[in-house]
Amino acid sequence: MEPACTPDVRPVSDAPFVHGLIAHGRSYTNWGGHRATTPAVYVEPVSYADVQSVARDCGRFPTPVSPVGSMLSVTDTIVNDGGTLICLRKLDSILGLETDTLGRNVVRVQAGCRLKKLNMWLKERGLEIPFQAEIGEATVGSVAVGDTKESSLDAPGYFSAHVVEVTYVDEFGEVRTTSDHADGASFYEFKCSFGLMGIVVECCVETRLARLCRSDVSFEAYETPQQLGRGLLEKRGQCDALLAIVFLDKLVSVYDQRYAAGLGSVAPFAQSECEEFRIAKRLAIQRGFDGVVTPQPKGILYSRADFVNEYWRPCKDEKRLDFQYYEHDLSKLPQVIAESYRFTKAFEAETGFAPGGWATYFVNRPPRAQKPFGLYSDGPGVSFSFDPFCSDPCSPRWQDFSRRYNRLAIDTLGARVSPIQTQWLGKGDLVIPKRLARSRFTTRYFSEFLE
Ligand SMILES: Cc1cc2nc3c(=O)[nH]c(=O)nc-3n(C[C@H](O)[C@H](O)[C@H](O)COP(=O)(O)OP(=O)(O)OC[C@H]3O[C@@H](n4cnc5c(N)ncnc54)[C@H](O)[C@@H]3O)c2cc1C
Repeated sequence: MEPACTPDVRPVSDAPFVHGLIAHGRSYTNWGGHRATTPAVYVEPVSYADVQSVARDCGRFPTPVSPVGSMLSVTDTIVNDGGTLICLRKLDSILGLETDTLGRNVVRVQAGCRLKKLNMWLKERGLEIPFQAEIGEATVGSVAVGDTKESSLDAPGYFSAHVVEVTYVDEFGEVRTTSDHADGASFYEFKCSFGLMGIVVECCVETRLARLCRSDVSFEAYETPQQLGRGLLEKRGQCDALLAIVFLDKLVSVYDQRYAAGLGSVAPFAQSECEEFRIAKRLAIQRGFDGVVTPQPKGILYSRADFVNEYWRPCKDEKRLDFQYYEHDLSKLPQVIAESYRFTKAFEAETGFAPGGWATYFVNRPPRAQKPFGLYSDGPGVSFSFDPFCSDPCSPRWQDFSRRYNRLAIDTLGARVSPIQTQWLGKGDLVIPKRLARSRFTTRYFSEFLE
């Protein structure tokens, strides 16, 4: 008797069935509405077999096949005109808690799961992933192999650091699993690959017991950029994790100083000022900080999972966050602040425009072997990001500012940048090794960075 055909071995001609939504010739935009793409085919798989069929069938699903989740990214990373855009949002189950072969507690989760859903699910079980950025819509698949940042409590501050195993579909449509304990170096490379090595369908992410956080929010004004730089370092030194929103042109900074406040996932008492702060902060981020005044509570005690927020998809005429990402070593902070201030004031004098503010996160870098390429790949140390933002992604002056500031940040200050979080990059601004890219998955946008 013939052996039964399994999705893993059947030939292309026998494997055209894809259950998920398929659309032809339609256009899609990112969250900010300033990046658009018209793939030949858009597909939302509902099973791993669907993803395999898409990867295998070059006739129905033209090359390149590029994965997306919530399409929040600000750059052309979502652009795949004429190719196949495969959106993992329907593969979003949380499959359960496990102990892995190294005895670590992990959560097994599908790639399309949003971070808010994952954080809430873990919180209900008294657990957490230490990476708890404000952005709740980002999907696990994207952040497992892409760039992220936040000022985490007692943890690195980027999501992929916590990912210990990835299951993906390769360019031949095979389902493969790679992990830190089984594969070492090639696993860490995979986590730097932005989907160019394969479409992530599932991950294991290390968890720990949930911790509470105490925050003191304050506001400081300075006379000079040098004083501002010293103020940032001083505030960071006083707490366990610092997020600063710097209004550079005005030499003013708002600080969220975070302190570890013991185990727990629910604050022991209700605090109205905590919820007021969360709602104001959520609205400020949604609107790119335009016209939103945030309160400055002291001593609020909360679960950071509650501050992972969700954002509505804005209309074209709404104020909405847009930003640029730049990573620097902490030792460069005084120089970065001083030179960025000089640049911003000169740009403002010339055009009347200055960014709405600059988000400043602090990330602990791992050994180079664990982050071989891209952001945070300089070996152990502390990085900070100094990220200008604006409330209108389509503003020509903001776009001009970003393009010109790229030259200062990258060429003069030596910033590392991200293909999914830094806009208007060109060849040479960042390098992705060619061996991390498969032609089946490589869009024109990413091919520019391959060397
Ligand atoms: C309002 C707002 C606030 C934000 N705040 C933060 C923040 O605090 N911290 C932070 O780090 N970022 C933040 N971001 C950026 C955002 O988190 C990242 O761009 C994130 O990658 C978006 O996830 P996504 O699911 O929308 O990815 P998408 O934009 O859909 O995809 C981006 C890229 O990820 C890769 N990818 C996606 N899915 C897969 C998959 N299944 N397999 C392999 N590769 C895949 C592909 O390269 C794809 O092009 C914010 C963005 C916005 C709009």
